[in-house]
Amino acid sequence: MTWIDTHCHLDQPALFEKIERVIKNSIKSDIEGIVVPSVSPENVNEVINISQRFDLCSLALGFHPFFSDRVKDEDFKILSLLLIEHDAVAVGEIGLDKFLDNIPLNTQEKVFKNQLDIADDLELPIIVHARGMIDLITKYIREKKIKGGIIHAFNGSFQQAEQLIKLGFKLGFGGVITYERAKHVRSLAQNLPIEAIVLETDAPDMNPSWLENILPNEPAQLKKISQIFCKLRGLDTQVIADTLRRNTIEALPKLGRLYT
Ligand SMILES: [Zn+2]
Repeated sequence: MTWIDTHCHLDQPALFEKIERVIKNSIKSDIEGIVVPSVSPENVNEVINISQRFDLCSLALGFHPFFSDRVKDEDFKILSLLLIEHDAVAVGEIGLDKFLDNIPLNTQEKVFKNQLDIADDLELPIIVHARGMIDLITKYIREKKIKGGIIHAFNGSFQQAEQLIKLGFKLGFGGVITYERAKHVRSLAQNLPIEAIVLETDAPDMNPSWLENILPNEPAQLKKISQIFCKLRGLDTQVIADTLRRNTIEALPKLGRLYT
């Protein structure tokens, strides 16, 4: 039984400095694949290098809202070319964040919408950071007729989830479901249609409860996180593993070629 980590920042120093061990630990913990998204024009090359070095890793390329003020007009053209050249599985990590004081929403929106156009042109799914911005993101996804993808670290309402599922999106859950106090996210993970869910670590962040004050999180933790998910759903582990794998490939169809 294997698991796919649909969101992990392996290029972050906390993981990159011991990446050989992180990959070995992942393989030992039945991790079949790791999707590594870029976040800015500056880390695109690191992410590409990681995906070339390790068979376990697939790449998504995009500019995260945190870094949207660093994106220049010519970066979008380069992004398009790199997505094609490296056969990226998605445009990501892209999105909008309500709680960024230093980056105005219109700067974030410009970068996000340009990347939606790229996803539309290249017929690629997207991997989305949507903190506090689900309704606006849903509106843009609908307008641009984007072909699905993953809303990572989903923390919206059941109603928002339903809208996104109708638009062909999967919702990502990770370490947060391991905290009993995270009642809302747990309830989402427990009650949303299982066909709409994928798992992720978001490592080195989003530590599971057993690593709460011990950094960093890593993809190998997904095995234990998945056990908690199975308990929440009360279904057979093999059924869940097969379903999540199918969901992940539906969200990111290019992964299907790697994991047959
Ligand atoms: Zn991320």
